[in-house]
Amino acid sequence: MSKKVCLEYIWIDRHNEVRSKNKIMTYDDLIKTNTNTLASTFVNMSAYASKSGSSMLWDPLHPSSYTSTVVRDNIHLHNIPIWNFDGSSTGQSSGHISDVVLRPCRVYKNPTFPDTPYLNHYLILCECYDAGFNVHETNNRARCRETSEKFAGHGCLFGIEQEYVLFERKPSSRLRQPTVVSKCDCEEGMCEGLCWKKQRLIRTDCDFICPPYQWLEHDDPGKQGQGPYYCSAGGDRAFGREIVKEHIMLCAGAGVEICGTNAEVMASQWEFQIGTCDPMKVCDDLVVARYLLCLITEKYGCWASFHPKPYKGNWNGSGCHTNFSTDEMRAPNGFRHILAACHKLKTTHAQHILVYGEDNDQRLTGAHETSAIDEFTFGVGNRGCSVRIPLHVVHTNCGYLEDRRPGSNCDPYLVVNAIMTSVCGSIETV
Ligand code: ADP
Ligand code: MN
Ligand code: MN
Ligand code: MN
Repeated sequence: MSKKVCLEYIWIDRHNEVRSKNKIMTYDDLIKTNTNTLASTFVNMSAYASKSGSSMLWDPLHPSSYTSTVVRDNIHLHNIPIWNFDGSSTGQSSGHISDVVLRPCRVYKNPTFPDTPYLNHYLILCECYDAGFNVHETNNRARCRETSEKFAGHGCLFGIEQEYVLFERKPSSRLRQPTVVSKCDCEEGMCEGLCWKKQRLIRTDCDFICPPYQWLEHDDPGKQGQGPYYCSAGGDRAFGREIVKEHIMLCAGAGVEICGTNAEVMASQWEFQIGTCDPMKVCDDLVVARYLLCLITEKYGCWASFHPKPYKGNWNGSGCHTNFSTDEMRAPNGFRHILAACHKLKTTHAQHILVYGEDNDQRLTGAHETSAIDEFTFGVGNRGCSVRIPLHVVHTNCGYLEDRRPGSNCDPYLVVNAIMTSVCGSIETV
């Protein structure tokens, strides 16, 4: 029996959620696979290419398409076959062609299955392309990749803090049911029945009817106020540690640079941190980490909400604080470069808010350790600012800044792209 590999292809759908499907093939076929020849099977599809005139066209027949090859266990990126999926179910098809092309871009170990003598498991993070190999409109990774290549000389490093809230899967019968939307009034124009936007609204409603994980009752975690839960321990106040621990193990097993976790201010709310890494690695790892978390919740009858304000009332929302530094900021006396970056970020505040996640206005109210959405502020050690400079950075006179504005449901590629563009872009023109 020849040894096989199970490749779990994962990608981001129109609504920034992760999808996956598996391809199982023999190891021999995998090593023999050369995407250059495989791509020729797709060439006919070019006839259907949307003639968008995009400068971002990817030419899979051209070897330079693979300059960022990642190798793991002797598997080169160009050994992984291009694949595709039906975009009509993920909000990603346009017109009459429903196939979306999956371009493998980073290989991880799949830690959710143990390897056996006859089967090895990998996660294949992919970018989406249309049938003519144009960058798909949902493919923000490709755009971020261009920016990170452009500013490679700045030595950008990032660390992202992902907050999330665990919710029970079963709605409480005492609570109201989700409203069913019978008529689609969205302008995307490609939905049937319930549209994507309305489905999202219903799901947000579900946040109300599903109590947060292991709360005694809806609206009653068991303790008074928000105080007891942050970094807490004990079965009466820390809800979901079994999930958090499993998540650390899976991230480490996959090769994801997870660097910490903590229980957060809202009961059943947790955080994990990814970093400190280069721009593409931090985003890729965050996407894989979110995916692994979703897989774990399947076993516990709960789910992770990345909505920035998943539970209304006097409860903290969830953010995706993005920590950032350049070579200059980390060098001795780099503090002045951190201040310069803050002044640049002030001028582009509005553009950043546009890509920092949907419904972030529900979170950035100025209360609950946030800044107001319509003004940019920065300060030392101040958690009510848009950008915080950690105290220890002032003490050492160099280091990094923390952009506290991104919401927990942000697309990391958009956030990282915006920060590099604002800070490094203007440095170049000075
Ligand atoms: P907080 O005090 O805001 O809760 P955390 O300890 O949760 O901070 O997270 C700190 C984050 O800062 C981590 O994701 C880490 O990777 C990141 N970080 C640390 N040093 C740097 C640096 N020089 N450049 C960019 N990010 C950094
Ligand atoms: Mn943190
Ligand atoms: Mn936090
Ligand atoms: Mn933080």
